[in-house]
Amino acid sequence: MTDELILVVEDESEIAQILEHSLAKAGFEVEVEARGDRALDRIRRRPPSLVLLDLLLPGLDGLELTRILKRDERTANVPILMLTGKSEEGDRIAGLELGADDYLAKPFSPRELVLRVRAILRRLRSSRSVDSTYEAGDLRLDVPGHRLLVAEQEVSLTATEFRLMKVLLGRRGQVQTRARLLSDVWGYAEDVDSRTVDTHIRRLRRKLGGEAERIQTVVGVGYLLRA
Ligand code: CA
Repeated sequence: MTDELILVVEDESEIAQILEHSLAKAGFEVEVEARGDRALDRIRRRPPSLVLLDLLLPGLDGLELTRILKRDERTANVPILMLTGKSEEGDRIAGLELGADDYLAKPFSPRELVLRVRAILRRLRSSRSVDSTYEAGDLRLDVPGHRLLVAEQEVSLTATEFRLMKVLLGRRGQVQTRARLLSDVWGYAEDVDSRTVDTHIRRLRRKLGGEAERIQTVVGVGYLLRA
């Protein structure tokens, strides 16, 4: 058993059972909630290690729930893995823009689910465990403090944005391909849309204010953070 709690928010009971069973078998503590509004209460009462979030839910839909969680500093760092249907590409992008860490398209295999969950948790742990500070221009990433300062002002980042910033700053001046970023920031290399990278870069730039242009697009290749 790990001491990591996964909250499954899914209103289709058959899918919820499969999710619960797969995660429990992998050693996680699992709670299931079918309503979005009740999920919000639970997360506020006891923030889980990760939320597995269906988008179409009674009470409060998944995107709205994501928006509320990411706005509140007590819950902004809880990682969110969205479960999306084939027809929900727009919602998927909207969810990533709002700060969800990743998505898993239905139908998915239990094995893939567990791999994704572990990848997110591993990323989070490693982004918390390295002890150093990275700087470029007016950017300063305080790794142990888990915060980014832009011209001495703290900017709030999601877990994934933090990890992305750490990789870009740690390798400043070197072009990073989308594939490399997917592998190093998201923790796996296959079957992920490279637009996930673009979406997160766009969001990160918006948060960097006057330092936004320090992240350069290298057309057809990837991104570079200027030293
Ligand atoms: Ca649903």
